[in-house]
Amino acid sequence: MTHPIVIVGAGQAAASFIAKLRGGNYSGPIVLIGEEATPPYQRPPLSKKYLTGELALDRLLLRPQSWYDDNEVTFKLSITATHIDRDTRQVTLSDGETIHYSKLMLATGSTPHRLPEKIGGHLPGVYTLRSLQDVDQMKTEFQQGRKLLIVGGGYIGLEAAAVAAGLGLQVTVIELANRILKRVAAPATSDYFRTLHQKNGVTILENTGLEALQDKDGRVSVAKLNDGRELSVDFVITGIGVAPNTKLASDAELKIENGIATDLQSRSSDTNIYAAGDCASFNYQGQLIRLESVQNAVDQAENAALDILGETVSYQPIPWFWSDQFKTKLQIAGLNIGYTETVTRPGKREGSQSVWYYQNDKLLAVDAMNDPIAYTMGRKILAVGNNPSRADIKDITVNLKDFT
Ligand code: FAD
Ligand code: NAP
Repeated sequence: MTHPIVIVGAGQAAASFIAKLRGGNYSGPIVLIGEEATPPYQRPPLSKKYLTGELALDRLLLRPQSWYDDNEVTFKLSITATHIDRDTRQVTLSDGETIHYSKLMLATGSTPHRLPEKIGGHLPGVYTLRSLQDVDQMKTEFQQGRKLLIVGGGYIGLEAAAVAAGLGLQVTVIELANRILKRVAAPATSDYFRTLHQKNGVTILENTGLEALQDKDGRVSVAKLNDGRELSVDFVITGIGVAPNTKLASDAELKIENGIATDLQSRSSDTNIYAAGDCASFNYQGQLIRLESVQNAVDQAENAALDILGETVSYQPIPWFWSDQFKTKLQIAGLNIGYTETVTRPGKREGSQSVWYYQNDKLLAVDAMNDPIAYTMGRKILAVGNNPSRADIKDITVNLKDFT
């Protein structure tokens, strides 16, 4: 009997992995183990249209249940994989079952950092924003006029701030670093989003940390900031980054370096075990990096499936990301790691612009704010490996198409 391909983690990467395997005519058994109760769903709308109530649960699912039935996928939901025995190629589950695998895919995602209990991180009214359950628990807090404190000025924090301000809440974002979006973007992009949020009534406090959260009647009520200020709060959302879920892999003594280390075929240090998505790191210009994005989860998972199907290709992504905040769509092409300078190109419409990242004369990435042409052209220019001069990028009379 053929042992199944077993997937641990029923998220974005898992759904793409299954689709690619079945699309490539893999006809053997597939078992999907997920600790959440829901089949794989999209997380991006959780901090956008699902939070505002504009998108219903069924639209969140990556595939309807019938698709998994049609593709003969055995689901084990609300069950956690707890142990991997690499010698016997078995996975143990939280219900005590053990399953043999022919190949194993670790698509375990990441876990949000939490504020320590000693500063009140455990208080009722303090939320993380990662899962459907997280959002369902906090949704009723979003009432006009209520005071929301957001800790962390990354994507999670800013997207939640935009939703809340749009619904008429009083929103304050605190960011420890000297500017919002510092981990992912250049000062010009941070400046754009600071102005956007301020114009929409969000208070942004940079260089500001949290000393402690205090409760009243068992619920969070006051936030003491590290500059001595005290804010009255109705609820708190933390968006202070994530850690890759590597415990299962590290217990099985797979190589861990900034996540489960994978090669260009998405294989871990055990070639029968693949890893993809937020939990997995891969070699990018000599460093093992992780990309916490939909594009990466999909592409790495598909890359692993191709390897199993015998159509091996090397994982060499041109990353892309997006974020929606108020009426602005941010689209990013490429990776800005190691940039030395940026050039800003005004867009054709009011409020549109793009920021182009260079490492000396080499173009690395583009952030496009309400500027789909700059984004599309940027992706094409990066794909062909062209390096327009910074003067050409600044000059809006120069047609970007000439570089594609
Ligand atoms: P996940 O989708 O997180 O799936 C992993 C699953 O594995 C989880 O369900 C987890 O419970 C399960 N699991 C973990 N350990 C076990 C175990 N031992 N046994 C069983 N199951 C286990 N990216 C973008 O590109 N654009 C966006 O606009 C964007 N917006 C986002 C908004 C929010 C609110 C969040 C949280 C993320 C957003 N992202 C966005 C990031 C993107 O959603 C993630 O990078 C992507 O979901 C990663 O996919 P994954 O399959 O690696 O992990
Ligand atoms: P993030 O991008 O790492 O941002 C977290 C921010 O919080 C950082 O700027 C960090 O500053 C700051 N911070 C950390 N501790 C703090 C503290 N105690 N007080 C104040 N600020 C603090 O992570 P995130 O926004 O939480 O997002 C989580 C994950 O979801 C990421 O994988 C992200 O990519 C993904 N996501 C993506 C999108 C998108 O692509 N549109 C949208 C939502 C979520 P330092 O860096 O200085 O620590």
